Parts: sequence; C-alpha cells; structure tokens
Amino acid sequence: MASLVLGAVVGLTVGEPAGKLKPLGDVLVRLLKMVVIPIVFLTLVMGLRQIQPSKLGRVGTQTVGAYLITTSIAIVFGLGVANVVDPGTGVSLPEGAEAMEKTPPGLSEVFLNIFPLNPIGAMAEGNVLQTIFFAIVFGIGLAFVQKESEEGSVVHEGTKTLFSVIEAAAEVMFKIVWGIMEYAVIGVFALMAWAFGTTGPDLIISFGKLILALTVAIAVHIGFTYLLIIVMALDRESPVEFLTGAKEAITTAFAIRSSSGTLPVTMSNAEDHLKIDEEIYSFTLPLGATINMDGTAMYQGVGAIFAANLMGVNLTIGQQFTVLATAVLASVGTAGVPGSGLIMLTLVLTQLGFPLEIIGFVAGIDPILDRLRTMNNVTGDLAVSTLIGKWNEAIDFESGVWSS
Ligand code: ASP
Repeated sequence: MASLVLGAVVGLTVGEPAGKLKPLGDVLVRLLKMVVIPIVFLTLVMGLRQIQPSKLGRVGTQTVGAYLITTSIAIVFGLGVANVVDPGTGVSLPEGAEAMEKTPPGLSEVFLNIFPLNPIGAMAEGNVLQTIFFAIVFGIGLAFVQKESEEGSVVHEGTKTLFSVIEAAAEVMFKIVWGIMEYAVIGVFALMAWAFGTTGPDLIISFGKLILALTVAIAVHIGFTYLLIIVMALDRESPVEFLTGAKEAITTAFAIRSSSGTLPVTMSNAEDHLKIDEEIYSFTLPLGATINMDGTAMYQGVGAIFAANLMGVNLTIGQQFTVLATAVLASVGTAGVPGSGLIMLTLVLTQLGFPLEIIGFVAGIDPILDRLRTMNNVTGDLAVSTLIGKWNEAIDFESGVWSS
C-alpha cells in the first residue's frame, strides 16, 4: 500500500518521465500472468479430489447463485448513485471521437466459448474459462477412475501418483507466487508512477464526477453487500479481519487491473489468511475471476447514466432494467483482463441505442475506472468465497486473520 501511494506521488511530481518506470511494473504483470493458467488448472484438479460429486452440484449452485445476486445488487447501486451524482452533465461528446473497433460477443458465442476445442490450445492462449472447464472434467474424470479402479491395479496407483504430482506442482506454484509478491513492492510502485505520471491530475479533474460516482457506488457495495451482509450478518465475522486477510489481493487488483492476473494472489490470500479450504476456493475463485465482476457490472450502470447525460436524455426505468439484464449477462462472458469492462459498455450502449463514440470518449480515463472496478471484482470473489466456505463448513474461522 505504501508503494502504491508513493508511486502516485512520484508520478504526479515527476510527470511524463515517470513513464520510464513502466517496464518495472510490466515485469510484475508478466510474472502474474505466467502463473495464472498452471494455478487454475492444478488447484482445480486438486480441489476435485476431495469434493464429492453431490457436493460439487451444491457448491456450484450456491456459488453461481451468490455471484449473480451480488452482481445484480451492484448494478442497482451503480444506477442509484449515478442518478444522484449525475456524471456527464456539462460535458459534451468531442468531435471525431473514435468508434470502438472491437465488438462484444453475442450470447450464444459467450456460451459456446466455455467449451475448448483443444484444452492445450485453451491453456496456451490463457483462456481461463475454457481451462476451468477442462480442469473440472479432468478432475472429475480422475476422481471417478480412482474410485472405480481396483485397489493395487496399475491404473489405481497411477491416479494416486497423478494426484500427488498435481498437489506438489500446486505447492510449487504457490511458492512462486510468494516470490512474486516480494517483487510486487517494486512493481506496484512503478505502475502507479507511470499511470499518474502520464495522465496527470487534469484527467482526474475533468472526469471527476464519473470517477466519484463509481467510487461511491463501489464503497456502498463493498460496505453494505460484502462487509455488512456477507461478512457480518451471514459469516458472523469482523469486516476488519476480512479486509486484512484480503488486502494483498485488493491492492494487486488495483495495481494491475485484472482479476485473472490477480488470481494467484487472491488464492494465496484465501489459503493463508482467510483460511478457506482449498476444495472451495480452487473452484469459487477462478470461476469468480471469470464470471463474477460486480465492479464491472456496476460500471455499466454508471456508464449508461453518464452516456445519457452526455446525450442530454434521461434513462427511463425500463431502460435502466435493460442495463441491468444486459450487464449481468455480459459480465458472465467477459474475461477478467484490463479494459474488458469498456468493451462490455459497447454492448450496453448498443442495447440503449447510444452512439459508440462515447466509448472512445471514456477510454481515456478507463485505466483509472478499471482499477476501481477490478478491486471491487476481486473483493467480491473473496467475500462470496468466505460465505460458500461457511455454508459448507470449509473455512476455519478460528485461525488466520480471524483469530486476531
Ligand atoms: N479489469 C477488470 C477485471 O479484470 C474487468 C474490467 O475491465 O472491468 O476484473
């Protein structure tokens, strides 16, 4: 956290030349990307060793249900706060704003994209959703073969060895993440210095209201939905302890703008500090990094109001419902990578019939908005995971941060 603040101060003081520090930050981003796919695959397969097929169905339903509900609440907060703060009034669309080139995927494409054509290809391309799918079927297959094969047979021994190898490999990956976190002190500083050095304070001022609206909505969502409802009311635990246990994941998400990239850190926080069982977080967190994006979905609400104000029109309640439905569905199919929330906004604006030039307009400050969204996304994944842990007696509230 100190290097985050220090980086921002250096960036604002030094200005443009601070951009030279960026490669040091890029190293952090690359290191995290390096471990994402192996961690997702190894920990998911590991997790499936312990989980019973009947429990898998239950945990799956609970997780997806909780993710969808928190996402819907997030959008309502986004729309609510933006209606009050009214971002976009007093600003107008600049001439020649460039239209988005990337088109968001259609619904059937989003669905089909879960199934890999080639599992190795999916891993090589870093496709998290497809890797999750393959890891799940592989893990279940392995568990079944182990159960059905005869004790002492070659196949049975082989499945045991395979599970042991995968467990050891997963441990190795966590060790590597530990090392990466040591480097993060430098990486986070460099990324902040670069971001503030190149964009400067002007940007923050001119889009202040948009940033303010998103910040307030996120603060309300984290404070109300995660801390009050999930951690205090349902988990019956202290919100301070939860935030202490999640702090590395939260700051990393803010610095690198990617929930998938943050995944290794999120997982090690779940394991080491929040004491959630591996069988739960190895399933809920990779899935959350892909389908649960509360901050991103909320931004669709804020962005829609901003766009409407820019156009000088008011969004009807019906249109605001359209935003809700579109954003929930789109957030499921969008990857947790930097800037994907901006691509989602094209889907929402198209649905509302607004010009896509608006996307080009907000793209300039998206790096700032993206940090806030990603931080919210990752916090949501961890909060829901504690709840799923509690519901399935797979979290130890007596140790880790909870014992302090
Ligand atoms: N960067 C966000 C994430 O990785 C997605 C977004 O652009 O909102 O969670």
